Parts: sequence; C-alpha cells; structure tokens
Amino acid sequence: MTHLDSFSGQVLFVGAGPGDPELITVKGLKALQQAEVVVYAGSLVNPALLEECPAGCEIHDSAPLNLDQVLEILISGCRAKKKVIRLHTGDPALYGAIQEQMEALDREGIGYAVIPGVTATFAAAASLKQELTLPGVSQTLCLTRLAGRTPVPEPEQLQRLAANGGTLCLYLSVGMMEKLVAELLAGGVFTEQTPVAVVYRASWPDEKTVEGTLADIAQQVAEAGITRQALVLVGEVLNARKKGVPEKSKLYDPSFSHGYRK
Ligand code: SAH
Repeated sequence: MTHLDSFSGQVLFVGAGPGDPELITVKGLKALQQAEVVVYAGSLVNPALLEECPAGCEIHDSAPLNLDQVLEILISGCRAKKKVIRLHTGDPALYGAIQEQMEALDREGIGYAVIPGVTATFAAAASLKQELTLPGVSQTLCLTRLAGRTPVPEPEQLQRLAANGGTLCLYLSVGMMEKLVAELLAGGVFTEQTPVAVVYRASWPDEKTVEGTLADIAQQVAEAGITRQALVLVGEVLNARKKGVPEKSKLYDPSFSHGYRK
C-alpha cells in the first residue's frame, strides 16, 4: 500500500491511464495534486493531467531526455526531499522502462513505489464494448508486440504466440501491419477470417477504430492513415458482437452454485 503522506524524498511511478484524464486512479490523481516534481512521458500522457499539479510544481517532459537526464531530475528532487512523480502512460509496468529507473534509485538508496494505471488494452476493449475472454471462445489474453528497435526474444515471436490462439493485443506494432498479419497467419490457428480491431488513441477525443479481418485489416489501417499510437486486437472473441455469445458464463448460470450463491 502506498501512503501518499510520506512520499517526500521518494519517487512515485504513476500510471496516467490511456489518455482520458478521468481514467487515472483516484490515488494517482491525489499524488499529482501533491507533487513537487513531475517527469511525464510527453507523447501519450494527456497534458490536462498536469493542470492537477500544485502551483510551483516543477514539470518536465521526458520525451527529449535520455535515461541519465531523467534520473538526474528524479534523484535531485528526492535529495531536496521533494515529492517526485514519474508519470507514465497507461500502466507503468508495460513497456514503461521503469525497472531500469528503479534499479538506479536502489543504487542511490532512494525509495519509490508504483501506482498502477489503466493500460491501453482495457481502454480499447471499453471503446469497442468488447469482453476479451468469452467462455468457449477464449480464456486467455496475450499482451505482446512485434520486434522494433527493441527485439522480442525468440520463444515469444508473434508466430509462436499466435499458434496458441486466444485473444492477442499488440502494442507498438501498428506501423508494421503486413508483417503482423503474416506472423499471425503463420501460427496456423488464426485464418484470413479471424476478426481484428485496431484502436487509435483509445479514450482520447480523436480516437478512431478500424475493424476487419486478417484478410483486409492491413489495407484498412493504411487507408485510415494509422501508423502509431494504436493497439491491434485479434481473436475470435471480436465476432461475439455480430454473431452472439456462444456459451453463457457459468458464474451467472442459474443452475451453477458457488461460494456466494447456493
Ligand atoms: N504503458 C502503456 C504502453 C506504453 S507503449 C500502457 O500501459 O498502455 C506505447 C504503446 O501503447 C503505443 O505505441 C500504443 O501501441 C499503445 N497505446 C498507448 N496508449 C494508447 C491509446 N490510448 N490507444 C491505443 N494505443 C495506445
């Protein structure tokens, strides 16, 4: 449990959520309202959130900074016993590069804590009004990416993950749609008929969604001009809105008793 009254001289890694400033957690918002130094990821954190910071709060965009420069700001803030926030898009634990920051703070003997956030996947599912796990269709959600400048370890290559089926949600990959589709098909479970949804800037005012199948999604994404800041969701669950739910959930089945309903 993170106690907000005692974070002077420490770093709070806070998930800003997917974009809509109301999708930060209550705890994250309260932390921002007390912050004295904030370093935020300029590309995807909504600047409206920074208006929550008190007057006089020092605010830095991390986009033009390298790791050492970010650390320098965090560490000098902590040495001055300030309340320091590192504000990350979505949830900080996913593609957030927080581990290396925490490791450096360990070396300096500086304390820190993490306040989670709503990751883009769940904002995209909400925009689509789509459950990602349906009985009889998929009970697994895989969050992954294609290799970019950051490589993906061999056992996690998309083709191999796609061989498991289920629901996949791809970050950082919408700029490589042809490769993405080829790898998904090569897994041998998904077909050209498998539904795909691409959600650009989920929860932002300029959000856009494109829906299709593995046969046509690459072209649709190209036509929509989406090259970044989007998620690609893949899997049979996406057909439920058109074709209906094949099996009702056991949890609410009248003939199924459980710990809370006999
Ligand atoms: N920590 C973030 C992910 C950072 S990686 C999170 O938990 O959401 C950045 C990638 O996340 C983007 O390239 C895009 O694929 C995805 N992303 C972040 N915000 C998004 C949004 N609002 N809508 C769609 N995709 C988003």
